[in-house]
Amino acid sequence: MGCNPRYEILFEPVRIGPVTAPNRFYQTPHATGMGHLKPQSSAALRSVKAEGGWGVVSTEYCSIHPSSDDSPFGFLSLWDEDDIRDLAHTADAIHAHGSLAAVELWHGGAHANNRLTREPMIAPSAQPPKFVQPGGARAMDRQDIREFRRWQREAAIRAKQAGFDIVYCYAGHDYLPFQFLSGRTNRRTDEYGGSLENRARLLREMIEDTKDTVGATCAVAVRLAVDELHGPFGITSQGEGREIIEMLAELPDLWDVNVAGALGNDSKSSRFSLEGYQEEHVAFVKTVTTKPVVSVGRFTSPDTMVGQIRRGIQDFIGAARPSIADPFLPKKILEGREDEIRECIGCNICRSANNEAVPLRCTQNPTIGEEWRRGWHPERLARKGSEARVLVVGGGPAGLECAKTLGQRGYGVLLAEAGNVLGGRVSREATLPGLGAWARVRDHRLHMLGKHDTVEIYRSSRLGAEDVLSLGVDHVVLATGSTWRRDGVGSSVEVPAEIAGCPSILTPDDIFAGAAVAGPVLVYDDEHYFMGGALAEKFRLAGHDVAIATPLPVVSSWTQMTDEQFFVQKRLMDSGVDVLLSRSLLSASEGVAEFACAYTGRITRRDFGTLVLVTGRLAEQALFDELSMAIESARGGGLRSITRIGDCLAPSSIADAVHSGHKFARQLDLPAEAAVPLRERPFLPSGDRSWNAVRHVVDPVARSAKSVP
Ligand code: ADP
Ligand code: SF4
Repeated sequence: MGCNPRYEILFEPVRIGPVTAPNRFYQTPHATGMGHLKPQSSAALRSVKAEGGWGVVSTEYCSIHPSSDDSPFGFLSLWDEDDIRDLAHTADAIHAHGSLAAVELWHGGAHANNRLTREPMIAPSAQPPKFVQPGGARAMDRQDIREFRRWQREAAIRAKQAGFDIVYCYAGHDYLPFQFLSGRTNRRTDEYGGSLENRARLLREMIEDTKDTVGATCAVAVRLAVDELHGPFGITSQGEGREIIEMLAELPDLWDVNVAGALGNDSKSSRFSLEGYQEEHVAFVKTVTTKPVVSVGRFTSPDTMVGQIRRGIQDFIGAARPSIADPFLPKKILEGREDEIRECIGCNICRSANNEAVPLRCTQNPTIGEEWRRGWHPERLARKGSEARVLVVGGGPAGLECAKTLGQRGYGVLLAEAGNVLGGRVSREATLPGLGAWARVRDHRLHMLGKHDTVEIYRSSRLGAEDVLSLGVDHVVLATGSTWRRDGVGSSVEVPAEIAGCPSILTPDDIFAGAAVAGPVLVYDDEHYFMGGALAEKFRLAGHDVAIATPLPVVSSWTQMTDEQFFVQKRLMDSGVDVLLSRSLLSASEGVAEFACAYTGRITRRDFGTLVLVTGRLAEQALFDELSMAIESARGGGLRSITRIGDCLAPSSIADAVHSGHKFARQLDLPAEAAVPLRERPFLPSGDRSWNAVRHVVDPVARSAKSVP
């Protein structure tokens, strides 16, 4: 099947200064959590994006100098020859598929914590650091500015040597050039401060410098946050954001525009934004420049993409998350397989990887980050290794992914689900306010399962051990999920609360099963991801008086990792939910809950009509225990393996459940070695900074004269 003619416009080439993108699919810079420490993983990940049809594939933030160091997070660097060598792998891997390679040259200024290099932070004006830590950034003097310009030029030259086609001047996300632009952070009184023209001077010089050094062969892109969403005190798209673009309109070869301030504004989760949510801020850009424009907005629908081009909002379809969820999104559209797109659900688990300084992971795409380490390709699977038949018990995200992937490999699969609805927790959680897009985890897998007649699905089929054994399959995979705890034990409080015998205590399972709720509702959250906050919001929307209590000092604490915490707490407070912080549940009886202050132990009480415990989950492993006993008593027949996957092995995120199901299916009948992921190891540097050279430089003065960065 070929491309739908309606979508052909997406595959037109677009000129960007001296280079030409083969189509309009532009993978904008996004973090991978890999950075300079994992060059092979990075190259393999970007290579798969290019193979999947992204006409431009960009790196993540790439530091231009040791004074911009984001350790322990995964950033790239172009400080020296070794960095050029490592990044050349990425550029080559992208070129191998005919795409353009872009590099996000980055200086964080007061946003770089410099924990590795211990260089003092720099900023336009002296200011406290962006990451809360002692100290602050010093104000750059004129010599510092000259040096900064030199670093950008030298990094651009290295980028060109590494083979990149597009070199960024990066004035987004509150980084150094943006700190110069914004009157909030630029308090200078010299020619780099004061008027907007002065504040934009550094960005203008950066663009000119970069063009002078590499512009003959490389395109120079500017990423600008046209609105920092700080209201009238910052850059706004109606005000200075627009003026900056007007001022510099024709200078760069491409404008990459977004909203910023915090990263959470730019990569807003689906709980707090819709597809195309940046349009209102960036739509003006094409009216003030003739240069190509790209922006983002979690685009997954080809019709929306075509609308962006036809309505003149942008020339490319910029994407980070949709390209993570489905690196082959462009190819699927090109080949008329848009129904097979694994649509991003906007959960921001990908953001959590960078925030936790580990390689990228994704709820929808279990192969992301595993391209090099495990050799997983998002679209290619080994054919089945035997005629074995597999029973998958449980149709949640783990079971669905496992059955789908086994089916794709050609195995005969039976999938049995106790309920009459497939999707497990996803089908329930997608009913919570703002989480509707999460149902895509189920829908994509069900759709793909429909394409494999080797998979038989049985709904309303709760299996016991004897049922399982009677089926005579070779392998049994248990994906029976988990249930919410009822004892009050959570991540901060290990001792069960005194709640036995108290009526009107419910768990999320009861709520999803339709239990009646009487107000006032008290949600106790010692789990700290989305569930507690989302339930509180749901009860409030239903008109109840609602309080949420948690032992931690903020609500839904782990959503800091998905860049959502601010928005969660704001929404709860705005909607009138009473937020009770730093309180550990001690007991509950007769409509009164007793809490101890997490710091002082001081006791407080709160009345409730219904208390909802969101504390932790227990694996649903009764079937596993029964089967294990049957096998021990030699009733297992020809059963070759029983494997638990997903939450029934260890309750975790949906992303982990999908990964777990995929892992089993991917590795069945493969040699055991295939299951062991590779680890990247640091290489010794080359040239005069090799270990031998360093070891023999015993004179500290001589050594520092070598200016090892
Ligand atoms: P995961 O996230 O690991 O996929 P879920 O809790 O979402 O876990 O899904 C588990 C699914 O397994 C649920 O839909 C549940 O109804 C089903 N299930 C649990 N026990 C059985 C059983 N004995 N037979 C069939 N299905 C079961
Ligand atoms: Fe989209 Fe979630 Fe995957 Fe990120 S983790 S790309 S938000 S589906």
